[in-house]
Amino acid sequence: MPTKGTKKAERIRWDGVPIVFVQRATCPSCGGARYIRSRTVAGGDGSRTKLVVCKICRQAFKICEEFPETGNSAGGVW
Ligand SMILES: [Zn+2]
Repeated sequence: MPTKGTKKAERIRWDGVPIVFVQRATCPSCGGARYIRSRTVAGGDGSRTKLVVCKICRQAFKICEEFPETGNSAGGVW
């Protein structure tokens, strides 16, 4: 009788789970989505600002990522 050693810890049914769309930041100058990340600056409110340079047109820009506090979000509650 073969032993079933590896059993998946959690079987998640991926049908019907909510989908959250996150758009990739694009260059404000040329609209390209390829850039070189220079560095990331952490904001005091949990946000993160990435300083990047576009690979196509060399435009420097900042990408701000916000992480809303749990329970403070305007979205749905899990
Ligand atoms: Zn660009």
